[in-house]
Amino acid sequence: MYPQYRYTPPPSKESDMTSLLSPEITTADSLTERCDRCSAAAKLVVSLTSGGELAFCGHHANRHREDIVRVAERVTLEEGFDWASK
Ligand SMILES: [Zn+2]
Repeated sequence: MYPQYRYTPPPSKESDMTSLLSPEITTADSLTERCDRCSAAAKLVVSLTSGGELAFCGHHANRHREDIVRVAERVTLEEGFDWASK
């Protein structure tokens, strides 16, 4: 037996965009982490929505910026670092 009414959620492009592209961005005086990719001093630390953290130097922060904003819950930038996605 089928239910009489089938609920179809309306397309919610706007709320999807918001949740995908707006990590909270904060700055710190200095970061002690090292880049996970190349071990240079980190300029950006990502707190992942899935838990855990990733650190990136300036070079890799910019190179992976699209991936970072997609998985980040919070982004911490070193003071003075000019991140392309900020
Ligand atoms: Zn790096």
